[in-house]
Amino acid sequence: MSAAAIFLVVNFVIGLCFSAVFAVVSRYSRWRSAAMLFSAGLLVASLTMLAELAVAYADDPRPWSIAVFATVLAGLVLLHWGVAILYDRRFPRWFAVAISIAGMAAYLVVRDLPRSWWGYGLMYQGPYALVTLSAAITVFLSERRTAIDRTLGVVLALSGAHFLLKAALAAIMGPGDRPNAYISTSYAVMSQSITAVLIVAVGLMLLAVLTLDIMAVERGRAERDSLSGLANRRGFEKAAKLSINRSVGRQHSIILCDLDRFKAINDTYGHHAGDMVISAFGTMIGAQGGASAVVGRIGGEEFAVFLPDTAPAIALAVAETLRAGARKMMVPGLPGGFVVTASFGVAALPASGDLESALRAADTALYAAKRDGRDRVHQALDLAA
Ligand code: GH3
Ligand code: MG
Ligand code: MG
Repeated sequence: MSAAAIFLVVNFVIGLCFSAVFAVVSRYSRWRSAAMLFSAGLLVASLTMLAELAVAYADDPRPWSIAVFATVLAGLVLLHWGVAILYDRRFPRWFAVAISIAGMAAYLVVRDLPRSWWGYGLMYQGPYALVTLSAAITVFLSERRTAIDRTLGVVLALSGAHFLLKAALAAIMGPGDRPNAYISTSYAVMSQSITAVLIVAVGLMLLAVLTLDIMAVERGRAERDSLSGLANRRGFEKAAKLSINRSVGRQHSIILCDLDRFKAINDTYGHHAGDMVISAFGTMIGAQGGASAVVGRIGGEEFAVFLPDTAPAIALAVAETLRAGARKMMVPGLPGGFVVTASFGVAALPASGDLESALRAADTALYAAKRDGRDRVHQALDLAA
C-alpha cells in the first residue's frame, strides 16, 4: 500500500468520525439542521477517499474519477449550506447550483487534457476554492464576531486558498499522467496530508462553535426562573454585577420586594392561583422596572430590581410605581376585585459597589415595611439619614 493510500484510509476514518460526532451533537444543538448538514457533508466527502482507492485499483477508473470530483464538491456545498444556517446568513443557493454544474462541466472538459497542465489544476480545484471561500465570507459577514467565529472564518479561508495551492503543486510536482497513477505520486501524499490537517481543523472549529453555543444555552437556562420568566437569584446576581462593571456612573440602587400575605393566597385560592400571582408580578416588574433594570425572582415570592446609575430618590419612585402596579394586576384564578399587594425595601449601593451589603440593607428596609403594615415602600437607614 502506498503512503497516499494510507492517508486516504486515515482521512476516510477521520471524516466518518466527525460525521458521527456532528450527528450526535445535532440532537442537543438549536442549530440542528446545520449540524446535520455538517454530518452529511463529511459523510459524502469521506466517500471521496473510497472513490480515490477505486480509481487507483479498479479496472476502469473513469467513473470513479467523476465520483471523486463530485463527492468533494457536494461535501463542500453541504458544509457551506450548514455554515450559512449556523451564521444566520442566506445560503447563496443559485451560486451553489451554478458552481456545481459549471464545476462538473469543467471537469468533464479537462479530464482528458494533460493532468500536469496548470489549467487542469485550476479548473479542477477552482470550484472547490470558490465554494469554500464563499463559506468563509459568510462567516466574516455575520454579526457574530467572537474569537472562535473569527478563527473558523480564517480556517475556512485557508482551506479555500489551499485548493489553489494544490493546483499549483500539481503543476509543479505532477499528479501522475493517468488517474490511477495519482496514488503513487508524492503530490498525492502531500495533497492528502494537507487534507487530513484541514478536515481536523475545520471539524474542530465547527464543533467548538456548536458546543460553546450549547453550553451558553444551558447556562442561560440555569440562570432563569421558568415561572416568572425572570432571572433566578444566580442569574440576577451575575447580571447585576455585570451591570455594575459596565456602568459609567457610580450611584446604583436596589429594590427588594416581597408579596404580602402570600401564604394566605395559596391557602385560600390554591397553589396554582399563587403561581399565577408570581407570574403576573414577574411580568409587571419586568415591564415597569425600566429598560436598564436587572430584574430577578430571588426567592419563592421575593423579587429584586437592580437599577444602575440611579439615585435613591428615583429608586423610591420606581418602587412606588411597582407597588401601584401590583395593586392593579388582574390575576386569573383570583376573584375579580382581589387586590394583590407587595412590600418594598430600597437601598443604595455603597461606593464600593458591594451588591451583597446593599441586598442586606434593602432586606432590613423590606422587613420594616412589613412590620409597619405592608403594601408600602421603605428605605434603608443610610438613605434616610
Ligand atoms: P408576608 O406578608 O409576611 O410576606 O407573608 P407571606 O405569607 O407572604 O410570607 P411567608 O414567608 O409566610 O409565605 C410565603 C409562601 O410562599 C410560603 C410558600 O409556600 C409560598 N411559595 C413559595 N414559592 C412558591 C411558588 O413557587 N408557588 C406558590 N404558589 N407558592 C410559593
Ligand atoms: Mg410574603
Ligand atoms: Mg417571603
